[in-house]
Amino acid sequence: MYDVKGNLRQVLADLPEGVRLVAISKYHPNEYIEAAYQEGQRIFGESHEQELRLKVESLPKDIRWHFIGHLQTNKVKYIAPYITMIEAVDSLKLLKEIDKQAAKCGRVIDVLLELHIAEEETKYGLTPVACIQLLEDGEWRALQHVRICGLMMMASNVDDEQQIRSEFRVAKQLFDECKERFFSDEPSFCERSWGMSHDYKIAVEEGSTMVRIGTTIFGPRVY
Ligand SMILES: *Cc1c(COP(=O)(O)O)cnc(C)c1O
Repeated sequence: MYDVKGNLRQVLADLPEGVRLVAISKYHPNEYIEAAYQEGQRIFGESHEQELRLKVESLPKDIRWHFIGHLQTNKVKYIAPYITMIEAVDSLKLLKEIDKQAAKCGRVIDVLLELHIAEEETKYGLTPVACIQLLEDGEWRALQHVRICGLMMMASNVDDEQQIRSEFRVAKQLFDECKERFFSDEPSFCERSWGMSHDYKIAVEEGSTMVRIGTTIFGPRVY
């Protein structure tokens, strides 16, 4: 088996105080998650509803699951009862659906707004302008069962460190603007979820509070 425990320890040693690890376990078997769990890891991220459901049923109940993938509105009801955080909210429609399903469960679900800053066209997310518009529009304020806790983004998948760094900086600036304009009296708006296996060290330097790391811990995914 891949040295999950050793890799995890190494990643954790790289993270400064105040930066949390979401171990991205999609496509990896339960035994890998259990190995990380035995090392004390409690936050895991998945991107497919069905895979997540199977894992939730069979793994320890004190794991906190983050949904990190693109979430279709018709899938929200399945994860609403247990999900800790939905990281990739990129429309008001999705936000409202999460609110509705969370209300049915008597819960408040933490979410992040997903930004699209990378050049790649295939990625989901709100452009900075669309993000500000969504918040300016103000409809989200009426939603009692979601709590917007910050922003999430993926940098371009390139080798150019300067480009990656500048994308993280754009995200950080936008976070600061959102914080000041819409959440200045909400301490819970504090999360900047950026940094993956290939760029988490840069992300941490650029103000990430939450890194999402899969491959470096669990090895290559078998699809
Ligand atoms: C898969 C995935 C990750 C983890 O990527 P690695 O390169 O394996 O670390 C992080 N964030 C999102 C949104 C993902 O889909």
